[in-house]
Amino acid sequence: MKMKTFLPSVVTLFFLVKVDGRTEVTAPLEMLQPVPFTAVKITDSFWSARQETNRIATIPISFDNLEKSGNLEALRLAAQGATNGSRGPVYRDSDVYKALEAASYSLALHPDPMLDRQLDEIIATLAAAQQPDGYLNSYFIVQEPTKRWTNLRDSHELYCAGHLIEAAVANFQATGKTNFLAVATKLADHIDSVFGPEPKRLGYPGHPEIELALVKLWRATGERRYFELARFFIEHRGQHYFATEHHTPPEKYDGTYWLDDVPICDQDKIKGHAVRAAYLMSGATDVARETGDPALLAMLDRVWRNTTEKNMYLTGGIGPSKHNEGFTTDYDLPNLTAYQETCATIALAQWSARMGLLYGDAKYADVVERGLYNGMLAAVSQDGKKFFYVNPLESAGNHHRQGWFSTACCPPNAARTIAALGGYAYATGSNSLWVNLYVQGQMEAQIGGQPIRLDVKTDYPWDGKVILKPLLKSAANFALHLRVPGWCEGATVRVNGKAIFAPEFTRGYIVLSRLWKNGDVVELNLPMPVQRVAANLNVTADRGLLAIQRGPLVYCVEQCDQTAPVASLVLPLDAELKVEKSGLFGGVAVIRGIGEQTGNSDSSQALYHHAVVPSKRTEITAVPYFVWDNRQAGPMKVWLPVAPTTP
Ligand SMILES: [Zn+2]
Repeated sequence: MKMKTFLPSVVTLFFLVKVDGRTEVTAPLEMLQPVPFTAVKITDSFWSARQETNRIATIPISFDNLEKSGNLEALRLAAQGATNGSRGPVYRDSDVYKALEAASYSLALHPDPMLDRQLDEIIATLAAAQQPDGYLNSYFIVQEPTKRWTNLRDSHELYCAGHLIEAAVANFQATGKTNFLAVATKLADHIDSVFGPEPKRLGYPGHPEIELALVKLWRATGERRYFELARFFIEHRGQHYFATEHHTPPEKYDGTYWLDDVPICDQDKIKGHAVRAAYLMSGATDVARETGDPALLAMLDRVWRNTTEKNMYLTGGIGPSKHNEGFTTDYDLPNLTAYQETCATIALAQWSARMGLLYGDAKYADVVERGLYNGMLAAVSQDGKKFFYVNPLESAGNHHRQGWFSTACCPPNAARTIAALGGYAYATGSNSLWVNLYVQGQMEAQIGGQPIRLDVKTDYPWDGKVILKPLLKSAANFALHLRVPGWCEGATVRVNGKAIFAPEFTRGYIVLSRLWKNGDVVELNLPMPVQRVAANLNVTADRGLLAIQRGPLVYCVEQCDQTAPVASLVLPLDAELKVEKSGLFGGVAVIRGIGEQTGNSDSSQALYHHAVVPSKRTEITAVPYFVWDNRQAGPMKVWLPVAPTTP
């Protein structure tokens, strides 16, 4: 495989890419650096409240549940040298690691000696369980010690290792301590001794995740071997290794589920298991950023567009099917049976954020925002104690969050995302500051070697007015890039009270280049009217239906807010919709309008009945999707008909 090996720290190059005989021009590379969440202080009432609930409810509950479910006990048994008695699925360790990662992020923002001690105890157990050669996985240590690395397709050893590494890097960044990082590097060294170019062996994970984790470990330690191992796993994928591993005849092998069907650079669309696919693409983006491989970059662009243009729900999630926890065909986006696993929404946001850093195009942050404010946020109850694994866009009233799951990947995944949310908000270039999410608070970064602070005041996502004030020791020349969300029309900006007419607008960002001085004030206005959203006609599930969105928030109707049955509601195109601040859940904005109630959805009616059913007017109230299923159980819909379905 031919590879370009340059890594310009800041480049603006157009790539000409030859793909299947076609020449494609990809966007220029911006190579932005994310501003770490530790440099972002969130002081709004929206996310800071969620972070506090995450800290005081979700994270402690996660550890309680990991104790009750046997995950922590499994690690203790491994540490004690036990040969039986542990329980839980083969990937059980990963749930502990994600909870450790969430708790570490929380510690970074909110020092808590008790929590710090609790984490150190678990880390000590991990260190004790780790084998002399560095291997660490409670299932194989206790139950199948002779079967290590024999079933990469199904055994999740590399997946678990990836989550351990991510957690260890998070803990190192949060506490500065190296006890967890030492376990991670010892494990990574072991994996590096097993897998790689000859004389080491071929292999890659059935469930990707370790690729992006190894890149994080490389960045945290400076040890290049970890990057090279990530690159090995990415670049060798697609060689039908799982067919070899399981003695599957070539003619009978379908590697689609694991994206092991074709060489990675030949992937032409998103497919297979949604979480695996998006984690893999995240790792591939990390590798492409470093190697600059045009074929890999072109694949990522192609597959990302296919994912978000033909396979993404309005709520930012992916993977419609329960059958494979993944993809089916383009535009297959059913609502009632939408699988849209919480982890898949998070994985797509992670991947999109990485793409945004590569290209500095607001379309990527649009997807991050859509996922974080809708699909991801809905996954956790308002009290932080119950969780969705599956996130449908319609419910008959029987789908509810649960306290925990036997496969508990989703709750700690949401917890770690909420805890480190500030990390999605900002990025820097060589002489630029990029604002991707509008969250009230402060941010600190270095631009061109100069420290810069930014103070942000806003009531986003309820209001689109954002006041940004650079706080500078001395005047600084840089370009402030303000993302204009894809949903927004008519954004305006003022600097020091003076309207900027026709500001520079590049790839979805208003660009304000000037010599910034302390005391400068930027006022961005993002008009936030109630919008009706239609789906592409190819989405048969949404034909004749519209959804309501305001700002980044997708709305839904829940039975407890309506006088008529949800199934009977019709929202005509001309019905006026008004926003009202409510007392619900700390003051969410609800949307009300007069719609119609049709009589043809009454389940008590005869199997066949007269088709002409009179409609009557009824008030319709919509609430943000992320708060659904927090009150009385009942039917819910995101997409509503604009006319009765009866002919
Ligand atoms: Zn999950």
